[in-house]
Amino acid sequence: AEKKGGNCYHIYQPSLNKCHSDYTITLETDLRYALEKQELVLYYQPRVSLVSGEIVGMEALLRWFHPQLGTISPKQFIPIAEETGLIIPISDWVSEMACQQGKTWQNWLKRPLKMAINFSAQGFQLSDFCERIEAICQRTQFPFSCLELELTESTLVKDFLQAREKLQQLQTLGIDVAIDDFGTGYSSLNYLQQFSFQILKLDRTFVRNSGRDTTNRAIVSSLIQLAHNLQLSVVAEGVERQCELNFLREQNCEEIQGYLFSPPLSAREMEDLLREKRRL
Ligand code: C2E
Ligand code: CA
Ligand code: CA
Ligand code: CA
Repeated sequence: AEKKGGNCYHIYQPSLNKCHSDYTITLETDLRYALEKQELVLYYQPRVSLVSGEIVGMEALLRWFHPQLGTISPKQFIPIAEETGLIIPISDWVSEMACQQGKTWQNWLKRPLKMAINFSAQGFQLSDFCERIEAICQRTQFPFSCLELELTESTLVKDFLQAREKLQQLQTLGIDVAIDDFGTGYSSLNYLQQFSFQILKLDRTFVRNSGRDTTNRAIVSSLIQLAHNLQLSVVAEGVERQCELNFLREQNCEEIQGYLFSPPLSAREMEDLLREKRRL
């Protein structure tokens, strides 16, 4: 039964919806314990330079291995984490874990490796966001210069002025910020004008078929030029085909990420890949 203004109640029970909401409630309850039960795990997707062909860094991507439901996509549980506020402890854990892992790999390889971490609005909006990040870098000895924060337009829209200040603060520390999923929102160009980023992540909806589709080719080529004119470097995500790679290379895109080179990997698989020194 759902309260519907005044004293009027109505029964709301289409079976499909009920099923869905039960599922959401289960996830919500279980997510509370997922961290301490070590069901949340970080995967890492390599990022490859189109100049050297080497792995220059990676993006940390969350996975939830649910004991009954199997693997749950972050697209499903991140919104729940945001609604419940659980995103804050989860985000802290992700940052600490990613920096720790990144530091271990840097020490072992004896070269810098970038680590990109996704943040959603709630985490970024904390008034002490920058101080938290700074503290994590200090605790884990992870260099500011290797850290990249990935933010989407919707993360920045909430508090324009404070967001601008934070980006400034991060820049002063030497931490790079990427605008993620670029071009998929409503006012992407406005964001480029209002905020200072160092990296533009080209969304995979544009990258897809950019080897063939003339519309996507035009969009990708223009966005890369735009980014370069603004001194941003470009990371293309979701590169799956050789023809997409060829096109991106022609357009002087700096780095790519995608199934063509590698899907997101567990820490152990990533270690093997780094040991192999595989190139593009
Ligand atoms: P995103 O930031 O756009 O991450 C890229 C997504 O594209 C990842 O999905 C990745 O697995 C997928 N991908 C990579 N290469 C390819 C490809 O060649 N083809 C296709 N079709 N897909 C590719 P994933 O891991 O399922 O993550 C989904 C989203 O969840 C992420 O999108 C990000 O917005 C969010 N997310 C993941 N981890 C975190 C986190 O730690 N914190 C927050 N706040 N959000 C996260
Ligand atoms: Ca991302
Ligand atoms: Ca993205
Ligand atoms: Ca995307």
